[in-house]
Amino acid sequence: MATTNGTLSVVRTRTGRRCSHVETIDLDSKEESSVLVIYSGGTIGMVINEGGALVPASNALGRHIRRCPFLHDVEYAKKRFGDKCETSAFVLPDTKRARRRVLYTLLEYEPLLDSSNMTSDEWIAIAEDIKKWYKSFDGFVILHGTDTLAYSASALSFMLENLGKSVVLTGSQLSLFEPRSDAKDNFLESLVIAGNYVIPEVTICFGRKLYRGNRTTKMDTEGFSAFDSPNALPLATFGIQIEVNYRELFRPIVIEKFRVHSKLNSNVALLRLFPSITLQTVSAFLRPPIQGIVLQSYGSGNVPSNRVDILEMIEAAIDEGLIVLNCSQCIRGSVSNAYETGKVLCDIGVTSGADMTPEAALTKLSYVLTKDEWSVEKKREMLERNLRGELTVTSPTPSMSEAVRMVSFSAKHNLELDPYTAANVLFPALLGSAVLDDNPNRIEQLLSSGADLSQPNVDQRTPLHIACCEGKTSLVEFMLQKGASVHTKDRYDHTPLNEAVQHDHHEIIKLLVNCGAHLMIPPKVLGEKLCKAAIRGDVTKLKSYKIAGANLNQCDQSGRTPLHVAMLHGHKECALYLLGEGCRMDAEDMMGLTPRDYAAKAGSIGMVTLLETKNTLHHVKVL
Ligand code: ASP
Repeated sequence: MATTNGTLSVVRTRTGRRCSHVETIDLDSKEESSVLVIYSGGTIGMVINEGGALVPASNALGRHIRRCPFLHDVEYAKKRFGDKCETSAFVLPDTKRARRRVLYTLLEYEPLLDSSNMTSDEWIAIAEDIKKWYKSFDGFVILHGTDTLAYSASALSFMLENLGKSVVLTGSQLSLFEPRSDAKDNFLESLVIAGNYVIPEVTICFGRKLYRGNRTTKMDTEGFSAFDSPNALPLATFGIQIEVNYRELFRPIVIEKFRVHSKLNSNVALLRLFPSITLQTVSAFLRPPIQGIVLQSYGSGNVPSNRVDILEMIEAAIDEGLIVLNCSQCIRGSVSNAYETGKVLCDIGVTSGADMTPEAALTKLSYVLTKDEWSVEKKREMLERNLRGELTVTSPTPSMSEAVRMVSFSAKHNLELDPYTAANVLFPALLGSAVLDDNPNRIEQLLSSGADLSQPNVDQRTPLHIACCEGKTSLVEFMLQKGASVHTKDRYDHTPLNEAVQHDHHEIIKLLVNCGAHLMIPPKVLGEKLCKAAIRGDVTKLKSYKIAGANLNQCDQSGRTPLHVAMLHGHKECALYLLGEGCRMDAEDMMGLTPRDYAAKAGSIGMVTLLETKNTLHHVKVL
């Protein structure tokens, strides 16, 4: 059964919740960005049923959003989409302080769920949809119930490997249909983040704060500030300005593409200790099919060390291959070996969960257990390792010494600069000059002084943009391994990949693509760029686009492919290259003309011959 909801068609399948079609958005202005909103359910779209209980309402949220001036700008949509504006993408109103207008599409799941009814199947469905639409959107927002939001965010943070784009989960305490709802702010701020910032993490946006998803826990059943991340600072706060805490962002530091790990192990459990717990209770948690448990111990990781019966049973289970991950029952702080009652766990082979939330610990366990290529030892080791910023590792605090030096300089010269402004303005400039000087040591120094590779300069350009433009291949590699983002767009809408393509740095293009970068150019615009290169006979440029992942058969607005114009202008080398790359000779432009017709009309006999020898291309040397 297919239903249409604004910009999407939803198709119900056997499993009940797959969606077949999403309209992608062709951005035609540098001031726009595109966001896919996945709507899984939750209070945000609930209504009261006949029994007086809140339940999700299908096909209602999209219609409501279209009538909410604070979530949809009808005038902009009319201008932008004309007759189609009633079913087009939604347009976030101009928030003045955000640089880009966010155009968003709603993908509503069928059925919508109260998040208490969600399972790991839904996490997998969400992860698969992000994978499917990853290249088509700048960022993702997931509308979700608040009850199990922290579990979903934690699970997704592990499943989305080498994530390079913003994935923001949000929900609300009151439905969007209610006048006093917190849904409006939570949804709107999430869209602003997903459409304007590259925060390559799974985050939760709630109560005017952006948190790392796997650090977050639901703290309040009633208040609008329902979430907190007790062991980690918020990644951003929303006041008059949006303050992004760049230094806190977690980034992948390997040169690998984004991928989704869509398997989770359900044979895991949370065992919360309490005084006088019986051996039978503990034993129920340690038996097959259970493969891993999160042991919620007291305080800083303590258990009754006088309960030899329990400890012996846990030790025997660990020897059999079960994983026991120790986390604290306290909301804040970490487990440690400070007390004898904590050290006993370490002695019997229990794995330390450091300061992970129970939600993060359980989903991490569930994720790690499906890594079949890892031994049990490796799984235990990975559980103790910081994979997505879910636990605290002690690293030297940035000294900010550079920033402080800058402030004293500015004080001396009567410039008004507080340390934060200094850091935001001057660090990107200093990093930029270190890139120009090809000086990785200086970059390293600046980073340890508090600079951040993702902090853009006044033109929204990052050090990676500069290195890609200047052709500094080893610096690009160095910065990617330090977590530089490949998706940040500058004021002119250029990503680092655009820079590398524009300047034909093929090795850099390869590096960026291997790190998950992809062209974000609407097809027809890409067609124009390719045709322009072919008009000039610029094979190097066509190669740049090809390495960046472009389809060289892409046509321009008039239906002309690069091969058409190469024929028209008699560029033999270029035509040979395109033919060698499998470009189509039968592609017709708007007037039904093929590359062969172009060559004939241009009176280029050599080019016609070239086409005729297409099947023996490797023999064609001189024409
Ligand atoms: N029970 C609801 C849910 O988790 C609560 C909410 O969304 O706030 O779906």
